[in-house]
Amino acid sequence: MNISRRGFMKLAGTGAACLGLTDLGFDLDPARVVAADLKLEGAREVLSICHFCSCGCNVIMSIKDGKMVAAEGDPDFPVSEGALCAKGAAFQSMHYSEQRLQKPLYRAPGSENWEEKDWDFVLDRIARKIKDTRDRDFIAKNAKGLLVNRVESIFELGASQMDNEECALTHQMLTGLGVIHRDHQARV
Ligand code: SF4
Repeated sequence: MNISRRGFMKLAGTGAACLGLTDLGFDLDPARVVAADLKLEGAREVLSICHFCSCGCNVIMSIKDGKMVAAEGDPDFPVSEGALCAKGAAFQSMHYSEQRLQKPLYRAPGSENWEEKDWDFVLDRIARKIKDTRDRDFIAKNAKGLLVNRVESIFELGASQMDNEECALTHQMLTGLGVIHRDHQARV
């Protein structure tokens, strides 16, 4: 009989739980009714890949009615053996959490308060700041006369929820502008 490591763990866990409880005289029928309503009941499993860093851990997504209802590591994936780090484990909440930030927040210079702004406002402001700073501080040659084409007064810090492709694009854009100070979670 062919069985994956994940399938084996499921069977072993279920078997151990059932044997233990029935041995103690518990009636498992009510539990089975509840189990039928569990959120994974009827869900379709889709194997995907976490895009948050170059480890590329396998992620098993459970999809129900077109919506992800759970995400877990893949025990058959040799690198992580079923584990996910905090970012990978937060896949579902990253998509659906009501606490997720969904609008840009802006804090004016000197202010203690954040205000909601639309994307046009923040993108225009970021572009303006980058352009003005680069125009002011661009260094074409260093003290030895060597061509360096760089800007030292801009620092980019990528958020932990930037995926690999976003990090790569940001990296390329900043390199084109001459920005040399940058860091983010995946260190592309
Ligand atoms: S971010 Fe975490 S879960 Fe995702 S690939 Fe990297 S190590 Fe794996």
